[in-house]
Amino acid sequence: MERSRHAEVAGAGICGLTTAMMLRMGGWTVTVHEQSPAVREIGAGIALHRAAMDVLDHVGVGSTIIETGLDLDASQALLADGEVLASRPLAGVTQQVTIKRPDLIRLLAENAADMGAEIITGSKVVGAEPSGVLVLETGERRPADLLVGADGFHSAVREEIGLTARKQLRSNGASRAIVEWPNHREMVLREYWGATNRVGLVPLSTEETYVYMSGRESQAYGTAIPIDARYWYNLFPGIDEELFRRLSQAEARHDPYPYVRPEKWSMGRVALAGDALCAVPPTLGLGGSLGLRNARLMVAELEETDDVTAALERWEERARPETERVQRWSLFRERMSHNLPGPLSILRARILTRSGGFRGWSRAGRGFDEALLTASR
Ligand SMILES: Cc1cc2nc3c(=O)[nH]c(=O)nc-3n(C[C@H](O)[C@H](O)[C@H](O)COP(=O)(O)OP(=O)(O)OC[C@H]3O[C@@H](n4cnc5c(N)ncnc54)[C@H](O)[C@@H]3O)c2cc1C
Repeated sequence: MERSRHAEVAGAGICGLTTAMMLRMGGWTVTVHEQSPAVREIGAGIALHRAAMDVLDHVGVGSTIIETGLDLDASQALLADGEVLASRPLAGVTQQVTIKRPDLIRLLAENAADMGAEIITGSKVVGAEPSGVLVLETGERRPADLLVGADGFHSAVREEIGLTARKQLRSNGASRAIVEWPNHREMVLREYWGATNRVGLVPLSTEETYVYMSGRESQAYGTAIPIDARYWYNLFPGIDEELFRRLSQAEARHDPYPYVRPEKWSMGRVALAGDALCAVPPTLGLGGSLGLRNARLMVAELEETDDVTAALERWEERARPETERVQRWSLFRERMSHNLPGPLSILRARILTRSGGFRGWSRAGRGFDEALLTASR
C-alpha cells in the first residue's frame, strides 16, 4: 500500500533513532527531536544481546556495530576472591556485542540521517496531544500521524498525557566507566559476585574494558564518583587493585536502576518507546533488547493498517505480556543480586555452583532474550 504518513519522535537515544530508521523503511517521513545541543550518549559501554542485535541487523547497522565494537566469546561468573563459579561460551550459542555508547549513538544517528530522518537538536518536547500534535518548548505545535515518546525514563510525553502507572528509581544502582585495561586472547565478560555488590569487566577491544560496579544506593562509598578504589578493592580482592586505581581516575557516572510501568502504552496517536515505555533494572542486561523489540513490533503493526490508534492498541496486546515478564524477572534478579542478607548471599553463590544452578541461572537469562527474539520475527 502506497501511503504518505508522518511521524514525530521525541528523543534521539538508542530507541528513538532506531524507531526512526524502521519508520523510514516503511515509507514514513520522520522528524526526531533531541533536547540536547548534540546527539550524544554520555558514559560507558553497553552489551547488546541477541534480540537487540536482531533489530539492529534489521535496520542494517548490525555488522558495523560488530566491526566498531566486539562480539564476545564467552562469559564467566566469579566470586569476589576470584574463584570461578561458572563459564559459558557465547559464540555460536547466543550473542553479546559490546560497544562504547557514544560510538553506538553516532552510528545510529548517521544511519538514520542517511535514511532520510530529520534530526533536530536543541529541540525540547514538552507535550503530545493524542489527536496527533507534538508540542515543543518554543510553543511550536507539530502535527503528525504518529507521535513517539522515546524520551527516556523521565519522559515528558508519558507524563504529559498521564500514562505513568509506576515510575521508580530503585534502591540499587551502578557506577560505570571505561578504562585502558588489556584483554588478551579470548574476549570474555567476567562478572564478580560479592555479598550485595557486583563488578562486571566487559571487554570493548584488546586495550579497553568497560567496568560496571553495582550495589545498594545506601552505600555512600559504593555510589561515590570518582570511584573509591580502596572501597571496591576491599570488597573484590580477586580483582587487580591497579584496575580500581585506574577506575578512580576515569570519567565515571553513577545511576540508580530505573523501572517504568505505564497504565497504557499509547493514547490515540501517541505511543511510548524504549525506557519511556519499559525501563528496567539492568540485571538481565535486556533494557536495550526490550526497547528495540517493542519498537519493531510497533512499526510492524503500523504497516498493517492506516488506523494508527487501532494498530497501537493491537501492538500493546501483543507485546505487553512478554515485556512485563522480563521486567518481573529483572526485578527478581535485582533482589537476588543486591538485597539478600550477607550470609544468605554467600549461600546463594555456593548453591548456584554446587548444584550446577548457575548454568540454569544463565540459561534462564538467555531464554528471556530468545523469547524477545522470537516475538520480533
Ligand atoms: C546501569 C545501566 C546499565 C545498562 N546496561 C545495559 C546493557 O548492557 N545492555 C542493554 O541492552 N541495556 C542496558 N541498559 C538499559 C539501556 O541503557 C536503556 O534501555 C536504553 O539506553 C534506553 O534507550 P532510550 O533511547 O529509550 O532512552 P535514552 O537513552 O534515555 O534516550 C532518551 C533521549 O531522549 C532525550 N530527551 C529526553 N527528554 C526529552 C525531551 N523532553 N525532548 C527531547 N528529547 C528528550 C534525551 O536527551 C536522550 O537523548 C542499562 C541501563 C542502566 C541504568
